[in-house]
Amino acid sequence: MTDRRRISIFGATGSIGQNTLDLVAREPDRFEVVALTGGRNVAQLAADARRFGASLAVTAFEDALPDLRAALDGSGIEAAAGEAALVEAARRPADLVMSAIVGAAGLAPGLAALETGASLALANKESMVCAGPLVMATAEAHGGRVIPVDSEHSAVFQALLGEDIACVERVIITASGGAFRDWPLEKLAEATPAEAATHPNWDMGQRITIDSASMFNKALELIETKEFFGFAPSQIEAVVHPESMIHALVGFCDGGLMAHVGPPDMRHAIGFALNYPARRPVPVERIDLAKLATLTFRPADETRWPALRVAREVMETGGLSGAVFNAAKERALDAFIDGRIGFLDMPRIVERVLDRVSAKGGLNIDVITLDKVLEADHLARRLADEEIG
Ligand code: NAD
Ligand code: MG
Repeated sequence: MTDRRRISIFGATGSIGQNTLDLVAREPDRFEVVALTGGRNVAQLAADARRFGASLAVTAFEDALPDLRAALDGSGIEAAAGEAALVEAARRPADLVMSAIVGAAGLAPGLAALETGASLALANKESMVCAGPLVMATAEAHGGRVIPVDSEHSAVFQALLGEDIACVERVIITASGGAFRDWPLEKLAEATPAEAATHPNWDMGQRITIDSASMFNKALELIETKEFFGFAPSQIEAVVHPESMIHALVGFCDGGLMAHVGPPDMRHAIGFALNYPARRPVPVERIDLAKLATLTFRPADETRWPALRVAREVMETGGLSGAVFNAAKERALDAFIDGRIGFLDMPRIVERVLDRVSAKGGLNIDVITLDKVLEADHLARRLADEEIG
């Protein structure tokens, strides 16, 4: 394929964003960069905007705009800041938009991009957790596609190519187990943010790395699996696989299991999404199976990782429970990173917030809209702050 794809990258300065730019840089004739967005790291944002010839650079934070403007001085690249500017950037014509902002902040720009008819490469799992039906319906209505970038979901997507979805019995996503998979349970209450922010296999942003240690990441991904592919909660499982070589398996009605195997390098899933429906060479390590020798699996223990149990409830409840779950988790994670609560307080707080919103009947909804999701998100953040104290 020789057509040039116009691409915008939201969260370009982050871990997924930088890996995306790494691949774009390798095939400059294939991609034309439209907009890049970032947060406080405006030096990186401006440098990338110049290097890739973007027409627009946006920082999420209004107070960072003067610095961004200064860094772009003389380049002719437009600068903007704030939430509304992110949404406006998402409306700039593009063929493909990479959604790699962290947190619920990624939802509105992703929806705006889909409304233009662009396809969305979705790393921002929070979009699916908070508003899965809305994201999928928006893509459908405007003719774009949502292509998963989360490695597990890319793996499921790939295993399903050419298959009849009605013949799928189950989907198994794998979890590395994160930083504390081998810690004694009694020690977990004392775990520090620095300890939680180290990952045995993957090199990722700080927040998702801590979410891996608590399994909130896998909890989000269980919900994401349900929303993306439409499977029933009872069909979706997580298993701990410390080597992180198999990312997901799809089980069919004839007993066959299709496993997706690849090195723990996000550029595979990113490259797949950038090039879909084609496949193009991606410079990830090629696995030597004989050297690898063994792949091991263990149950994902819900006592060690209560987030998994809560996720199951969210999958069963549906409605706004994903938005509440995610927002409460984001606040609890902020508080853990700031040293205001302990590691095991995070799932407790999220469960309490879900119970409180549920008691008010606030999880049920007929049709998910962005306004309703944002309302549930704000309420959950407020309640989480009350629980944090
Ligand atoms: P990161 O923290 O490295 O980068 C986040 C990006 O979002 C940065 O560009 C940052 O400036 C921007 N950002 C932060 N807060 C923002 C806000 N309020 N508004 C707008 N922009 C904001 O995160 P990451 O690890 O690259 O993860 C990005 C997304 O991809 C997350 O949803 C994560 O769960 C998902 N994901 C990441 C990986 C990985 O390997 N890193 C794997 C699978 C899925
Ligand atoms: Mg993942």
